[in-house]
Amino acid sequence: MSDHVEYLDFIESKLPFWRSLSTENVRDERNFDLLLATYEQVWDGIEVILKYWGHDEVVKKRAKRLRREISSDCKGLLKKRTDALIPLEECVESMEVKSVGASSGGEEIERESCVVCMEEFGVSGVEARVTECGHYFHFNCIFKWFQSNPCCPLCRVKLCDY
Ligand SMILES: [Zn+2]
Ligand SMILES: [Zn+2]
Repeated sequence: MSDHVEYLDFIESKLPFWRSLSTENVRDERNFDLLLATYEQVWDGIEVILKYWGHDEVVKKRAKRLRREISSDCKGLLKKRTDALIPLEECVESMEVKSVGASSGGEEIERESCVVCMEEFGVSGVEARVTECGHYFHFNCIFKWFQSNPCCPLCRVKLCDY
């Protein structure tokens, strides 16, 4: 058996596993990126096979079918990712907003730092989100943090329901 047929066998054997990964699995950005990169890699592999062995009707048919399946799985993966992020977004949205800067009456946190990015709030002047445990973070920073950890980066209190 030649390499390209083995490669198609490999993809076919892996597809059910990739497909079985749940919304919970892809909530973690690292898992999601890894899976997306894997799909891109096998997609490229299929393109190469079609280029060099496309004259073989059997190989061509099988490669094209796998390419279609990967395409539809990728769409499924993106939807899972969106579904996984919506609750996190709601969790951050529901937090109290704290304005930064003297004019908005929030100067007391101007010199404090968001521990996720280590930047003082006064630097960008971007409003902060206040957690239930009373800690301040940028919206984007805490949202990104929640994608892999449901607890407060400072005091470890659980803030998200997952
Ligand atoms: Zn930050
Ligand atoms: Zn906290």
